[in-house]
Amino acid sequence: MGSLADKYDVVVVGGGFGGTHALHRLRGLGFSTHMFEAGAALGGIWYWNSYPGARVDTECPVYQLTDPELFKDWTWSERYPGRDELVRYFAHVAKVWDLNKDITFNSRVQKAHWNQEASQWDLLIDQSGYTFAAHATHVVFCTGFASKAYVPPFKGIQNFAGRMCHTGFWDEKIDFQDTRVAVIGTGASGVQVIQSVAPQVKYLTVFQRTPNLALPMGQKPLNKRRNDEFKRNYEQMVAKMKSTYAGFLYDFDPRKCFEVTEETRLALYEELYNKGGVYFWLGTFSDVLKNKEANDTAYKFWWEKTRARVNDPVKAEKLAPTVAPHPYGTKRVSLEQNYYECFNADNVDLVDLKVNPIETFTRTGIRTRDGTEYPVDVVVLATGFDAVTGGLTQIDIRGVDGVSIKETWSDGVKTHLGISVTGFPNMFVIYGPQAPTAFATGPSCAEAQGEFIARCLSFMREKGYASIHPTVEAELAWREHVNETAQEGLFAQTESWYFGDNIPGKPREALNYMAGMPLYKTKCRESWESGFKDWILK
Ligand code: NAP
Repeated sequence: MGSLADKYDVVVVGGGFGGTHALHRLRGLGFSTHMFEAGAALGGIWYWNSYPGARVDTECPVYQLTDPELFKDWTWSERYPGRDELVRYFAHVAKVWDLNKDITFNSRVQKAHWNQEASQWDLLIDQSGYTFAAHATHVVFCTGFASKAYVPPFKGIQNFAGRMCHTGFWDEKIDFQDTRVAVIGTGASGVQVIQSVAPQVKYLTVFQRTPNLALPMGQKPLNKRRNDEFKRNYEQMVAKMKSTYAGFLYDFDPRKCFEVTEETRLALYEELYNKGGVYFWLGTFSDVLKNKEANDTAYKFWWEKTRARVNDPVKAEKLAPTVAPHPYGTKRVSLEQNYYECFNADNVDLVDLKVNPIETFTRTGIRTRDGTEYPVDVVVLATGFDAVTGGLTQIDIRGVDGVSIKETWSDGVKTHLGISVTGFPNMFVIYGPQAPTAFATGPSCAEAQGEFIARCLSFMREKGYASIHPTVEAELAWREHVNETAQEGLFAQTESWYFGDNIPGKPREALNYMAGMPLYKTKCRESWESGFKDWILK
């Protein structure tokens, strides 16, 4: 890192895909740009989520930034790379794009206050207990959708004397060998930890509230020949990715579920399921996530496949209940490798928290309501995040008149295009609320939003504007559009972090833009092509 300047054109907060791309893109336009990143390396979520078995559920070559310069000298080793490989990939990106000279690592932005007089952001940054100030005309928050861990307020949790860790801020020193382990939570993180540690531990108790309707990952190694094939076809692949709902290489099947015979339907389900990955979820008939009867056919198919993998009928009923716990695919579907088979081992137990909730933690373990004591040495809290908004509201961000973003969003999120907020001039957010975020691949969302910001800042420079924020009307219209489009499918019927349901007291609303990347990009393009008419420029 070079020495810090007094003031930057742009400060980027956070170094995942969003921040890494934004730093490169904005610096390339000649803006003095600096990143502050809380971790010791780039990677964002992949830096922090170093729990056993952490790997991405989006396959390669999709899950990468699309600059061919980056892919040219990079080789993916697996269809779904693990966490360490992803952190190495970010180091590769930093090298090719020469980023590190403009990054201060181990530095957490604590405060960002808009200074109206100077038309700038005043930042306070903590670097291992030492705090310092920085200033910027613009600030781009890329703090990710899962950077504020959620630990439920379990009674007695402070009394537990063993090791305990949340997956989102993992302590790599934790050793599972021959220990008694409890995993609480069976979201994407829980599933990965469970299948990874089950073979090492003396005893594993999984505390499940809602079963994960997980799909086989279909993991496989990728050799150089396969990587070379990807590279040869990369241009076409990128064009395809830019045209699909979530940035994948495929989309929903345009047919409807009951338009075809049962034989054809089951043949498609079989094909999608056997491909591995989320094809069965996001490559299925166009109405499966919209029509309950169509959805039931998908659940039945998944149920039969999954039940066949679990020997004990009691465990099988908990993992794959006869009656669907929610419409298939309306909570995040995880990819698994040997998750269901883990429960066939005698030393792996499964507690259904809906029937028998956690009563209290004790010094030596966990007690459930029926009085059973589970002695444990290690507790893994795979209990998720104050998702999408928490990464921002945990920072003291204040706009005009000193009002905080936390107060501004206390009764619901308001943004324009999921990028900017009225009253917070020159502040941009990537991978935050009311943007495609969890409904798109990380790189595709990061690049689309980074492009919007790049165009906005260039426009301001060209026209001589000092500040920008959206009109109240634009914000209201965007909020309405986001929430209206979220009602179109079955998602809104299910309680999930997509709607803020996992955090007690959080307003229920669509936290993501669920109408797909193509429409999102059209809306962004319309805004910049109109000369940002839905924004206040001064
Ligand atoms: P999550 O999906 O929110 O899962 C949290 C789990 O904890 C759920 O099973 C939840 O049960 C349970 N839980 C929450 N509060 C609880 C309580 N009070 N008592 C008992 N159980 C409780 O969190 P996550 O697994 O960390 O995943 C978050 C997101 O990060 C994912 O959806 C995904 O987008 C991303 N992620 C991706 C990957 C990957 O690509 N491979 C890996 C990890 C994470 P309920 O379902 O009943 O609420």
